[in-house]
Amino acid sequence: MGGPRFERVPEPGQAHGPPPEEPPEQQEQQEQQQEPPAPAPGPFGEAAECWNCREPVAPAETHCPTCDAPRTHTVLSCPDLALELTHGPGAPLRLGRDPVWAPATAAAFGALPRISRRQAQITVDPDGSVWVEEPSPPSTNRTYVNGEPVGPGRRARLRDGDELRFGRRIVHFTVRVRGPGGPERDCPGG
Ligand SMILES: [Zn+2]
Repeated sequence: MGGPRFERVPEPGQAHGPPPEEPPEQQEQQEQQQEPPAPAPGPFGEAAECWNCREPVAPAETHCPTCDAPRTHTVLSCPDLALELTHGPGAPLRLGRDPVWAPATAAAFGALPRISRRQAQITVDPDGSVWVEEPSPPSTNRTYVNGEPVGPGRRARLRDGDELRFGRRIVHFTVRVRGPGGPERDCPGG
């Protein structure tokens, strides 16, 4: 009888050799942040990337053929925090430091004690319109759209290019609206 045999079991993570070294971060750079990359031109003109799953979506499609997410969505960009939030129709996107109430954003705002625990929430309606509202009871730091306070008990429309601000000087986002509710279709008043 032969002795014990040893089989060489490949260890996970060894298959591809050491990972390539990442270039050193340029931490000496000034605070000048580069502008976020511009979204693909024209929400309708050409195939765009699905905001949800990154697969291509043809111009005629209203929903992503891969994940069925609607084209309509909003992108909130905050260069100061290197933060970009993308949100589509469905449950509201909650913004604040409360990890239970705002699980998607609490970590990003964790270093900003002046952001309220429950600051604001963003809703994308099925028709593509985008809205912001303050939670009830209203947060200590107000929420502003283009300098106007949203105020408790109402919701304010967000349009492409609007500025969303929390507190007077705490943090601000640039609003982008993509899809049927985007800049190509601005509802005439009334
Ligand atoms: Zn998708």
